[in-house]
Amino acid sequence: MTQIRKVTVRRLSGENTEVSKEDLFEKSLKLAKKGKLKEAKKTLKKASVQNYMERFVSESKEKKIDEMLDSVENIIKAMKVLYENGKEFISDKLYDITLDKFKAYREEPVEAKLFIVGRRTKDAEHKYPLLRGTLDKAKYIYTRDNDEKKNNVKDVESFLRKCGAYAKSPLRVRLSLKYDGVSLTEDIDRTTGKVLSGISRGDDGEGTDLTHLLQHITYKNAINENFNYGLKTELIMTQANYEAYSKERGKTYANLRSAVVSIISASKGAKYAKYLTPVPLYAVTDTGEEVPYSIINKLFATNMNLRFKEFEESNFTRLLAQVHNFIAEVRDDRAGLGFAIDGVVVDVLNPEVREALGRTGAINQYQTAYKFPPDSVETTVEHFEVTVGRTGLLTPIIFYAPITLNGTVHNHSTLSSYERFEKMNLHLGDTIRVSYNHDVMPYVEPTVRHNGQGPAIGYPDDCPSCGGMLVREGANYFCKNKDCTVKHLNKIIYFVKALGIKDFADGTIVRLYDEGILTDVPSIFNMNYSAMLQLDGFGETKVNKIKSEIGRVMVEPLNDYDLCNALGVSGAKTCQQILQWFTLQDVMRNPYSVCTINTAGVKDAKLNKFIDGLTDAMKDLQYLTQEVFTGNLVHSKNNVEDESSKIKVLFTGFRDSELKKLSESKGYKVVDSGFKGVQYVVASNPHDTSKKKIAKALDKGIEVISRAEFEEKVRTS
Ligand SMILES: [Zn+2]
Repeated sequence: MTQIRKVTVRRLSGENTEVSKEDLFEKSLKLAKKGKLKEAKKTLKKASVQNYMERFVSESKEKKIDEMLDSVENIIKAMKVLYENGKEFISDKLYDITLDKFKAYREEPVEAKLFIVGRRTKDAEHKYPLLRGTLDKAKYIYTRDNDEKKNNVKDVESFLRKCGAYAKSPLRVRLSLKYDGVSLTEDIDRTTGKVLSGISRGDDGEGTDLTHLLQHITYKNAINENFNYGLKTELIMTQANYEAYSKERGKTYANLRSAVVSIISASKGAKYAKYLTPVPLYAVTDTGEEVPYSIINKLFATNMNLRFKEFEESNFTRLLAQVHNFIAEVRDDRAGLGFAIDGVVVDVLNPEVREALGRTGAINQYQTAYKFPPDSVETTVEHFEVTVGRTGLLTPIIFYAPITLNGTVHNHSTLSSYERFEKMNLHLGDTIRVSYNHDVMPYVEPTVRHNGQGPAIGYPDDCPSCGGMLVREGANYFCKNKDCTVKHLNKIIYFVKALGIKDFADGTIVRLYDEGILTDVPSIFNMNYSAMLQLDGFGETKVNKIKSEIGRVMVEPLNDYDLCNALGVSGAKTCQQILQWFTLQDVMRNPYSVCTINTAGVKDAKLNKFIDGLTDAMKDLQYLTQEVFTGNLVHSKNNVEDESSKIKVLFTGFRDSELKKLSESKGYKVVDSGFKGVQYVVASNPHDTSKKKIAKALDKGIEVISRAEFEEKVRTS
C-alpha cells in the first residue's frame, strides 16, 4: 500500500548552470546582508523558497530534516532581513511554523537575534525620513590592509576618498561608537518628553512596534514648546543591567544583544523594559532640522555620555590617521565600557557630500561603519562532553577556562561536527583560541597549541545516553537506538514547546527526567507532584505553577493538528490539511485511509510522511486522546463546515500569535487585511485615527477595540 515517492527534479527557469537550491539560499542571505533586498528576494523566489519551507515543515524523517537545517537557517536569516525592511512575501504563519520547527530541531542553541518576532506594524509611517537608512560596513581602515579586494571587502579609506571627491571644503567627519543593539526610530512628545512611538528599523514605513518598551523613558531636556523630536536610537543593555536581568529571569544569554532581543520578543516584555537603554544616535525636529551632535548628549542621553569625535581636516593622510587613532583607542577601551559595541561609525557631515551621495537602497552612502574584527581570546581546554540530540546526532562540546567576549562570560562551545573534533586532536590543558563574531556563538578556532599535559580526549564508543551503537554518517556520529533515552527527553521538550506549556523550562524538564518523574510524553500528565516537591530547587510556588499550567492545557481548547504536530507526526500545516477531511479517530483507526485524500491537493509524499509519523506516535496519541484531552480537542473536520458562523476580526498594528490562537479556538476568525464581513478591528491604540486601517474601519462603521478589550471578550466567551 505504501506509495512510491516521486522525486521531481525541477530545472531552474532560463538557466542551464547547475546551481543548487542550497547555494541560492546561501546567496540570498549574503545579498540580504549587503542590503540588496530586491535581489535577495528574487533569489529566494528563484529557489522556490515557499515550496522548500513547506517541505521542511511537513518533513517527518529526522535525517531529511537535518539535511535541510542549514538551508532553513539561511532562509530564516534572509527572510528576517526582508521582513524588517517590509519586503516579506511569505505568510507569517508559514514563517512561524518554519521557525518553530527549526528551533526544535537545531542541535546547538540558536541565537535569539534571528528571531525578533515582535508586533509588526504595517501602517507605521516613519515621520522622519532623515532618520531612515542603514549603514554600510567596512572591515578595514586602510586600502593597504585589504587583501581580499576580490571579495568586495570594503575599507574606510576608499569610503572617505569617495566622499572627498564631492566635498567643496575640507572633509568634516564625525566618529562615534557603533552600539550592538537593536535600531529604533522614536517619536518624542514635545510637551512631556515621553516616547509617542518607537519602531524598529524598516525602510518602507514598516517595522516592529516597540512603543510599549519605551514607556519608562522621559527625555526631560527635550521638552519644548514648538516641535516634536524624531530620534534614532540603538536599544542596548548595559552590562550592569544584564547581570540584574539575567538574575531575574534565571537565564543567561549569548550576548548583551541577545538579551535585548529576548525582551523584544517576550510577550510580557514590558515587564523587563527597565533593563533597556536607548542610546541616541541622530535627532531631527518634525520641522525637518537636524540636531547638532554636540547637543544630542544634553537632550537625549538617559544615563550615559556619548563618546564621539568631530573634526575637519584637509590633509587626507592626517584625516585617515585621526580615524585610525580613534578606532584604536576605542578598541583598547572596549572591554571596560560596560556595554557592547562592535565598531565605529564614520559619518561625513559636509552637506554637499550628503546631498550628492544620498541613499542607495537602504544604505546611506555618506556613512560607513568600521566593524571590529571578531574578538578572540586564548584559553585552555578543561573538559569535554558529547550531547545527543533529538535526531540522535552527537555534538561535541568543549569546555574551557571562562573567558569574557563582548561583555558576556563563556565557558564552552560546540564543535560543528565529529570531523572537526577529530582534526583538532585535543588534550586536556591544550591552548585553544575562541573567537566571537557577534552574530554567532563563540567559535573555537581550528588551530590548537598542543601544550596540554592532560590525556587525549577521545570520542565515546557508545551513545553516552543509552549505551546504544553509534553509526557514522558523513561528518558525524548518530545514535540509532529508537528508544534512546535522550530522544525521549527531546520529544518531551518538543511537545512542551509545541503546546506552549509555560513555566516548564528545558532545564526543569531535564531535571525531572533525570529524577525519573518524567519518562515520556504521556508522563507529563501523570507527574508525581509530591516527589517533585522533595527535589532541591522545587518550591511550592514552582510546583504549583507547573501543576496549573498542565491543568490549563488539559482543559483549554486544543486543535487536533497542533496535538499531532507536538507528537512529531508531521508539520502542523500538513496535519491541518489532512484533518480537515478525516477525524483523528478515523485516521488512528486506519492511517492509510488518508490515501484517498489526493484530490485535496496534499502531495503523496506528505501523506506518506503523515502515515509514518502517525504510526510512530500512535501509542502516545491513543493515550492522550483517551485519557488526557478528552473534552477539549478541537476537531478540524467539524470546523470546516461552520466556517461561516465564525466571528471575523481584523488585527492591525500588532501581531500576537497567542491571542490569535486563543480566539480561533473560541470560534473567531482572525484576518490581517480586508474588511469584508469583519465585525471588530483590534488595534494597539484604537483611538489612533492616523492609522489608515483604523480610520477606514470607523468609516465603515466597524467597531475598533483595543487588544485588552478583545482579549477580555475572547476569554469570557
Ligand atoms: Zn542513544
